Amino acid sequence: MASGFHEVADRVFVARYPQWDVNVGLVLGRDGAVVVDTRASCLQGFAVLDDIRRLGSDIEVRHVVNTHVHFDHTFGNTAFTAATVHAHANVARAVDADADRIKALFRADPGDGPEAGYTSRDVVEVLATEVRPPDRSFELSATIDLGDRAVTMSWAGRGHTDGDIGVHIPDADAMFLGDLIEESATPSFGGDSWPLDWPDTLTEHLGWLGPTSVVVPGHGKPVDAEFVRRQRDEIAMVDRVIRERQGAGWSLEAALSEPDERLPYDLERLDSAFRRGWEQLTSRPAEPA
Ligand SMILES: [Zn+2]
Repeated sequence: MASGFHEVADRVFVARYPQWDVNVGLVLGRDGAVVVDTRASCLQGFAVLDDIRRLGSDIEVRHVVNTHVHFDHTFGNTAFTAATVHAHANVARAVDADADRIKALFRADPGDGPEAGYTSRDVVEVLATEVRPPDRSFELSATIDLGDRAVTMSWAGRGHTDGDIGVHIPDADAMFLGDLIEESATPSFGGDSWPLDWPDTLTEHLGWLGPTSVVVPGHGKPVDAEFVRRQRDEIAMVDRVIRERQGAGWSLEAALSEPDERLPYDLERLDSAFRRGWEQLTSRPAEPA
């Protein structure tokens, strides 16, 4: 994989890094640059800055945007001392707890090795990183004015997490969708995902996209609107099977073990999807005090 930033749309660049196979975006404007996601540690964030300087020594990063709270997208924030960090309000609320959670996981099981794509040194860097929370957060949308172009951040509902946003550059017909979309792996349903909301969230974001739009996923190669539509439909099938089984009175254990050929992903990868869906469908609104 060639290193450094590559232009994927007018003055919109992407660099793909091997550790956690994560994408970092760079949007250039008259009044400075926006970096989209910052990798998994403070040192990895500094390496992004080095790659930006190689692209142009006069590029000034004035803004950082986090597409969601996860460590591989936020821990490098610390390196961007001269920038304002933007994220959804749910990221601001969760960033400290999520950092503690992921650090505890790595302490318990570093999980490094040749197959993992990261080393024990990377894990040490993750553990040593002091997380920098967003300076500015928003609930629905916010815009960064770069003088000659705008970068719009919008939240359209819960999905991969409760704080995923789309980062849209209208004049370049480009959009970053973080881990709402994955190209190099199947979508990641974690313990903080919202599988039943995810399809509608993607449908909302699709409203911004046309036949020539460039969409940058959190992991993997840039894709188009058709890819987003297909992955939305796959996630909608997961949503449908969860609802059918829960509605038909299945136990969670049965739902987790019985294959269904309509499911687009291996059942083992859907463990958290079913658990989260079950929780959502069986939770009752709290009684008034
Ligand atoms: Zn993620």
